[in-house]
Amino acid sequence: MGEVRVAKSSSFSSVIDKYRPKLEQYEELYKHYHANGELSTQEKETAASITEHLKKLSSDFDIRTGIGGHGQIAILKNGEGKTILLRADIDALPVAEKTGLPYASKKTQLDVDGVVKPVMHACGHDFHITSLLAAAETLIAAQAEWSGTIVFLFQPAEERGCGAQAMVDDGLYDAKKHACPIPDVVLGQHVFPLQAGKTGLKPGPLMSAADSFKITIYGSGGHGSMPHMTIDPVVIASHVVVRLQTIVSREVPPDETAVVTVGALNAGSTENVISDEAIIKINIRSVSAEWREKILASVRRIVKAETLAGNSPKEATIEPTSSFPLTINDAETAGIINKSFTEHFGDQHDPAIKNVLGSEDFGILGSYIDRPYCFWFFGGHDRAIFDEKTKSGQGHTIPVNHSPFFAPVIQPTLTTGVDALVVAALTYLGKDRK
Ligand SMILES: [Zn+2]
Ligand SMILES: [Zn+2]
Repeated sequence: MGEVRVAKSSSFSSVIDKYRPKLEQYEELYKHYHANGELSTQEKETAASITEHLKKLSSDFDIRTGIGGHGQIAILKNGEGKTILLRADIDALPVAEKTGLPYASKKTQLDVDGVVKPVMHACGHDFHITSLLAAAETLIAAQAEWSGTIVFLFQPAEERGCGAQAMVDDGLYDAKKHACPIPDVVLGQHVFPLQAGKTGLKPGPLMSAADSFKITIYGSGGHGSMPHMTIDPVVIASHVVVRLQTIVSREVPPDETAVVTVGALNAGSTENVISDEAIIKINIRSVSAEWREKILASVRRIVKAETLAGNSPKEATIEPTSSFPLTINDAETAGIINKSFTEHFGDQHDPAIKNVLGSEDFGILGSYIDRPYCFWFFGGHDRAIFDEKTKSGQGHTIPVNHSPFFAPVIQPTLTTGVDALVVAALTYLGKDRK
């Protein structure tokens, strides 16, 4: 029997204290990314800047760029051991920033349809990039403390739900293409409406599935004075909208979580013309595969029945516009990470956080190769303001992800994001942990 080394409770903290770089330069880098976000699938400059930073950090990285658009991986091999993948998403949102911060984004960019859009890192992906780069610097410096292989993965187009799929479809794990080593475990994180310094996760379902559809309802247009000579799609669409509300209220069990939101309803352009089509855009959130299927079936049934009832001349079309899978943390992996985070973050870590109705495509990076994954949250809100607002019943005024006022405090948010990644990596690869 070989030497048995018992992990000290301070083993993560001591490695981090010894090797984590001063984060001031990463705070500046954060501000740079924040002010210069790029829309999903158009993250060209962001990706180039990440590559450049990685090259500066170490010549030991095996960097592969242009995966599924502007995705990239940097592989760091450091002897025998497990392989882990750490993921950061890199895209920003078409939101006009209203935070008034000195480093607020003033940027605009043409979107995929050629329309000028404001751009803001309103979901904190700038923290994800910066944390992963600083974690990479820490883990390079700490190579004596661990062995194995780490894949640092930077994913584009998370907000549109297509980036992870684009990377795997482009041969991320294909030995003949980008040949990313198959990880034993896939790990990722997200800034979340918690007090900065806090972390949280749970085994099992963590984030909902999200499915969006564009529904086109056909009518037969004509003069507003002659409704009997037309089939009015506005009336049919209105019935559809109202009937859709009954899915969650009348079909889904009260203890099951689901949302059906009609986010857009468009038809016609003036008072006295009955239009010939109406477009409804809906978003569905569900937390179980069973109810996801049932809700989608209900939507199809309602659209079919209401268009039939309205004598629509043509069957409505239902086109998917985006789809995010369920994020279900592997129970064993989540248990392992929970233990490490509790060891390092103490009572600032919540090992049984409530699942949320936000969605992620992160899980695809694990499920595609049938490997376990674990995703966690780290807080970004000023603690005093967050606590005061929550206590005074003003919790709903805290600007959350996707708000134009979303303004996470740089510290301790950044330190927490870096430490969480390093702790997770050392959990699987640390020499003290064997
Ligand atoms: Zn987002
Ligand atoms: Zn996000």
